[in-house]
Amino acid sequence: MLTGKTALVTGSTSGIGLGIAKALAQQGAHVVLNGFGDAQGPCAEVRAAAAQAGHDVRVEHHGADMSRSADIADMMAFAAGPNGRVDILVNNAGIQHVASIEDFPAERWDAIIAINLTSAFHTTRLALPAMRAANWGRIINVASVHGLVASVQKSAYVAAKHGIVGLTKVTALETATTGITCNAICPGWVLTPLVQKQVDAKAAALGISNEEAKKVLLGEKEPSMQFTTPEELAGLAVFFCSSAANNVRGVAWNMDGGWTAQ
Ligand code: NAD
Repeated sequence: MLTGKTALVTGSTSGIGLGIAKALAQQGAHVVLNGFGDAQGPCAEVRAAAAQAGHDVRVEHHGADMSRSADIADMMAFAAGPNGRVDILVNNAGIQHVASIEDFPAERWDAIIAINLTSAFHTTRLALPAMRAANWGRIINVASVHGLVASVQKSAYVAAKHGIVGLTKVTALETATTGITCNAICPGWVLTPLVQKQVDAKAAALGISNEEAKKVLLGEKEPSMQFTTPEELAGLAVFFCSSAANNVRGVAWNMDGGWTAQ
């Protein structure tokens, strides 16, 4: 139960972040969403998830652009809310761009490193003082299997995700004697808008249907031939927030249908 805790989930107007936000609200946490696009719909979904579980929680949205440190500082102050702190920080916002290194636009490299990695440094450094004062906190970094292994054409993404696994370990070590833990979640393929773009590109490149393209994508990497779901990942995030995980520190836990077992 996370009643009374405040959770901030970056990049939570869609996909995995929205799934984690709903699950934390179902545990009774107040939730601050972040991300682009329509925020009304996602906020309503999170409120409904909480209500279904019998919780009346505060659900708010802050539209900070995670590539901008001033926006992030503003979001952190907003998210701290009446309790004066973010208790659960989920660094989830992320983007992807697929191209070989020689063709990789430098501006896309910079954006991926800023959003997928540097933003987590800023949110973490700003969240830690109040977590230390409360001697409780949970920092969950949504990395990827690409934080553990590489794939071609994903130089910036793989570099950022390996980086966030490293940041996870350092954060875990620097907080090791406190009630604050930091861990990473490393999903394989999850069928969100981020991956649908890659399915569409595969379908166009091979002249095959959407369904066939999904099978090709899974077949290349994921032995289970199944997408991991945001709900499954959210279950792991809830576990990391539980007291059973008090001494789980600095892990990079893959949920990848066997991808990295190969
Ligand atoms: P998604 O595209 O569905 O959602 C991304 C979210 O991030 C959206 O809410 C979007 O508005 C937000 N966002 C993007 N740029 C932003 C910015 N500059 N500032 C603030 N918010 C921004 O993607 P997803 O698949 O749910 O991905 C979420 C995380 O999971 C990412 O870090 C991604 O790398 C990681 N991940 C995804 C998969 C997958 O297969 N989908 C696998 C492994 C890891």
